[in-house]
Amino acid sequence: MEKINKILESKCLKFICGAGNENSKEIERLAYIYSSAGFNIIDISSKKDVLDAVKRGIARANKTDETAICVSIGVHDDIHFKKAVINKQKCNFCKKCIPECIQNAIFTEDNKILIDEKKCIGCSRCVKICTNGAILTESKYKTPYSMLLPLISEGIDLVEFHCSVSDLNVISENINKVKSIYTGPVGICLDRSKHCDEKITELINIVKSGDETLIFQADGNPMSGCDNEYGTTLQTVAFAQMLESKNISLYVILSGGTNIKTPLLAKMCNIKYNGIALGSYARKAVKDLIARDDFFDNKSVRLQALNIAENIAKELKVNML
Ligand code: SF4
Ligand code: SF4
Repeated sequence: MEKINKILESKCLKFICGAGNENSKEIERLAYIYSSAGFNIIDISSKKDVLDAVKRGIARANKTDETAICVSIGVHDDIHFKKAVINKQKCNFCKKCIPECIQNAIFTEDNKILIDEKKCIGCSRCVKICTNGAILTESKYKTPYSMLLPLISEGIDLVEFHCSVSDLNVISENINKVKSIYTGPVGICLDRSKHCDEKITELINIVKSGDETLIFQADGNPMSGCDNEYGTTLQTVAFAQMLESKNISLYVILSGGTNIKTPLLAKMCNIKYNGIALGSYARKAVKDLIARDDFFDNKSVRLQALNIAENIAKELKVNML
């Protein structure tokens, strides 16, 4: 049986490093603490050095056999594959954007605001806080086929398509091209605001051919779950409820705006699902600890980060049962 099927037999915990996160140093650390804490799928961007980093992190945690690696690829201009860009003419150097970035991607040099593209995940938090309109996000889109090709023989357990484009033909063409080189388990991640119910059902039928494993990531409000509020996770639970009503055989993972409140809300609404994915919320919780130069050498720092990750996993599991 595929590793991913075994993981999905009971409710899983997925940790999202960020589909556009190319910061290998951070990813090794995140994979180490969250796989140690029991997150059994780690979701990464489609870069060879990132894949190597996540493998190192999981191996450090001694969780290689029980943790699956999911590679995220984007279908046409998906928001997860954008990066922030500063318009220097409009920037007044107020620095309000710096603490807003949970990726530590914004920094100063010679009295200028700069973005570290490898760290940026395109979440747009900085865009929203900048009242001068000095930040926008630009697509760094590459075709799913070209993103996946260098990784195909490197041992990945799941490929996830991020499909916020509304044209089903474009999605279908891209997915079919990838399927000509990759035959393993597939996931799709949809932003609730981009597709109506009918289109979502149609898309599932396009991607799902026969009995293959299909994982559906019900992305309520992508990259919005920094704070532990019901508001950000409402759309995810509503999305899962809609999928349940369609009676299609697939695995559903709650994602996008998810936090500790997600399983509680899902329980209150009596929703069936196969796992919860945490991204922004879980990354923000350990942001300062994993940014430290001495992270792997300083036992106390490492234990603090592990403790936070374990508590998050524990709180999620209590309400997932
Ligand atoms: S918030 Fe906008 S104006 Fe202020 S430093 Fe950041 S980019 Fe510049
Ligand atoms: S706030 Fe989001 S979009 Fe802005 S620099 Fe940070 S990661 Fe990139």
